[in-house]
Amino acid sequence: MNSLSPKGTALVTGSSSGIGAVYADRLARRGYDLILVARNRDRLDGLARRLADETGRNIEVLAADLSKKSDLARIESLLRTDASITLLVNNAGLGATAPLLASDVEKMTDMIDLNVTALTRLTYAAVPGFVARGGGAVINIASIVGIAPEVLNGVYGGTKAFVLAFSQSLRHELADKNVRVQAVAPGATATDFWEIAGTPVAHLPAEIVMRADDLVDAALAGFDMGELVTIPSLPDIADWEAYEAARQKLLPNLSKQQPAARYRAQTQA
Ligand code: NAP
Repeated sequence: MNSLSPKGTALVTGSSSGIGAVYADRLARRGYDLILVARNRDRLDGLARRLADETGRNIEVLAADLSKKSDLARIESLLRTDASITLLVNNAGLGATAPLLASDVEKMTDMIDLNVTALTRLTYAAVPGFVARGGGAVINIASIVGIAPEVLNGVYGGTKAFVLAFSQSLRHELADKNVRVQAVAPGATATDFWEIAGTPVAHLPAEIVMRADDLVDAALAGFDMGELVTIPSLPDIADWEAYEAARQKLLPNLSKQQPAARYRAQTQA
């Protein structure tokens, strides 16, 4: 039996493949014990065995379909009761590349269930314990389509815009509670995501596709730097800072008693 990690336990959703499997690898090497969550138990078991052998950490596997209420409730309950959990990585997610109006609305709502509802409920389950214990962290995997919803399917972009806004608000609310929040916004990353979303990754120009290993290493570097939003591809952080400064400049003027003068002029004409 391994000793418990002083870093605590990281619960990583969607860790049976792609970005989540790399997070599991890197976090185990950083000294976290792990709880791995996804539907494919065989893949989770294989990863858990390899990481336990290579790192000596305690690795637990929980097969769960996070778009099913009963499975989601099991993971929520664990997050509420297991005080060893110090980090939640909300990574499980689905995308689509078909245009919004050409997509099956049932598939769109399945995507909202996983990308938005599950992520929200797991965060609600974990954060009160982090606050009560005086520390913890949430890493939410968003996407660049949260900023650029024109790029892929619009419902997918909308779910990731939710993840960004939710993370921003959470960070603001938890600022003085020693609970860290980071939203990661990957661009195209070479994983199974693309095949499942409807466009094999080989169809994308190689120069816009990052390896999942590089993506996660950059995202964790951003986490160590204390970033709220990490965009691993963006060459110049000043571009993000200018975007954020423009947003902040809007804030004092977004709610007023009177409509803006340009609309009053229209009404009087
Ligand atoms: P991936 O390899 O397809 O991984 C998705 C993970 O989510 C898998 O482990 C999958 O495991 C799990 N999952 C899917 N449906 C689930 C469900 N109902 N319940 C529980 N787990 C479920 O794709 P990825 O690229 O690593 O995606 C990870 C995250 O990155 C997603 O949130 C995605 O939106 C985001 N992202 C990806 C890209 C990209 O270009 N790849 C870009 C931006 C953002 P099971 O099938 O075993 O359940």
